[in-house]
Amino acid sequence: MRILCTNDDGYMTQGLSVLASAARSLGEVEIVAPDREQSATSHALTLHRPLRARRSAGGVHVIDGTPTDCVIMAVNELLGYRPDFCLSGVNHGPNMGEDVLYSGTVAAAMEATVIGIPAVALSYTGDDYEELEAWGPLLQRFLGQILVREGFPDHTLLSVNLPALPPEEVKGVKITSLGQRRYSESISKIQDPRGREYFWIGGGISAWNGGEDADYRAVKAGYISVTPLRLDLTNYDLLEEIRRWDLVL
Ligand code: MN
Repeated sequence: MRILCTNDDGYMTQGLSVLASAARSLGEVEIVAPDREQSATSHALTLHRPLRARRSAGGVHVIDGTPTDCVIMAVNELLGYRPDFCLSGVNHGPNMGEDVLYSGTVAAAMEATVIGIPAVALSYTGDDYEELEAWGPLLQRFLGQILVREGFPDHTLLSVNLPALPPEEVKGVKITSLGQRRYSESISKIQDPRGREYFWIGGGISAWNGGEDADYRAVKAGYISVTPLRLDLTNYDLLEEIRRWDLVL
């Protein structure tokens, strides 16, 4: 089993380190990761400047690009083989609900899925990322069950969110759907030292909605949330209704 590990927080993070360690007990691991924080870069591809790749002292392939760039570079250039599995994360922060649309962590797993490589994105919902170090054995047991599965579904990735608990206090695993996050006050307006305004997106208060099986409920209740995501965003339920709009030239 040859496993590609990547992330969106940059190659020197605790989350990637614990993920790669767990993966090394399950197969041969190569890490291809961004040289800096790339959170919320979604599925961006670097097309308008050159990309550079270097090896860190620890042997990590470091790319000055996005998580999607990393997966493409890994598979088409750096590894010299096609990995059997792609693991992305562990992200420092949750990726639940609409977060998955902005997340570079999830996008890296999506890119692997596009290429036809089974992929799992992992995210830690706690604030203290040092706590991730203790998650190694649990991640090894958990991922081991996924990596050995025959017939990982096509066009589908798994988005995993870990609860903000010590691993020995986790209650179990729940298979979930995406909830909906509602942000308020998510833009700050601030004055710079010369009296001009500038703006900062993020940091607002968020409230959650969703069904009984929503991701945020599972995590809040102390479970690992596993959401199967598909790449096809078509709303098949609405195809007939929109056809009845009779749109014409
Ligand atoms: Mn991130």
